[in-house]
Amino acid sequence: MPELPEVESVRRGLEEAKICAPVEKVFRSRKKLRMDSPLRSLVGATPGKLRRRGKYIIWEFSRADGGDPSSAIGLLLHLGMSGRCGIAQAPAPRVLHTHMILTFADRRELRFVDPRRFGGFRVSPLAELLSAPPISKLGPEPIDPGFSGAVLAGRLGRSARSIRDALLDQHAVAGVGNIYALEALFEARIHPLTSAAKLRASAWERLAKSLGDVLRRGIDNGGTTLKDFRNVVGEVGRNQDDLRVYGRGGDPCPDCGRPLKSFVSGGRSGVYCPYDQSARRVR
Ligand SMILES: [Zn+2]
Repeated sequence: MPELPEVESVRRGLEEAKICAPVEKVFRSRKKLRMDSPLRSLVGATPGKLRRRGKYIIWEFSRADGGDPSSAIGLLLHLGMSGRCGIAQAPAPRVLHTHMILTFADRRELRFVDPRRFGGFRVSPLAELLSAPPISKLGPEPIDPGFSGAVLAGRLGRSARSIRDALLDQHAVAGVGNIYALEALFEARIHPLTSAAKLRASAWERLAKSLGDVLRRGIDNGGTTLKDFRNVVGEVGRNQDDLRVYGRGGDPCPDCGRPLKSFVSGGRSGVYCPYDQSARRVR
C-alpha cells in the first residue's frame, strides 16, 4: 500500500510533468471506487499547484473564467491499496482497471488505474476540500520541520494500543503505514508491541527522528515497490532494497545477526529483532 514516500513520489512526478494545458475531457469507468465524485467541473479548468497531505495528493485547478482564487477547484487523489497515477499520451491504449482519465488540451492524460479499487478521487471547491475530512482529520506530517518526539507523544502518549498499531492511525500522524512504521521502530530500538502509553520521552524522540529518517530515505529512493507501486512514468521505486526488517521475518537481523521475529497485531503482520528491540532493554 502506498505510504507517504510513494505518494510524494507521485506528487513530484506530476509536478515535473509541468502540465499547464486545461482539461479538455474526462473519462470515468463504471466501476465503483471507495472515494468518488463527478468530474465534470474540471472540464475547462487549468491545473496548478500540487500538494500532498499524508497519503493524499491535492491538485489545484483554476476555472476557465480565471480571476477569483476562491473559485479554485481541488482534485483529491488517494491511491488506496493498489492505485497508480500515470501520465500518458492521449492515443496510447488504456490498460485494464483504468477508472479515471483527465485529457489535457496538450493531448497528455492523467490516468488513474486501480485493480483493487480501494483508492479514488474527489473533486470539490479547494477551500472545502482542505477544511473537510479526510484532510482536516489528518495528524501532523512526520517530515515537517516542527515534528518532534513531543508532538508524537502528544498525539499517542495516552494510547493503550501497541506503538506499531498506533502509528498507523492517520489521525495521529499522517502518511505512515506498516512498512515505514516497522522500519522506524527498528531504527529507534523500540519493540513494536510496546503499549504507546509506556514509552518515555527519550523513546518518543528517537521514534520521531527515525520516522523522519526512513520516510525521507523512502522519498529519496523514489518510494518502495513491493508489488504494485509505480511512479507517474511507470517506474518502480528503489527503497525496497534499503528496507532493513520489513518482510524479513526469520532472516538474520542486519545489526546483530539473530533471527528477526514475525508477529500479527490488529490484523496486520509485523517484524522486529527480539534482541535489539527487546521490550525490557529500551522504552
Ligand atoms: Zn538485532
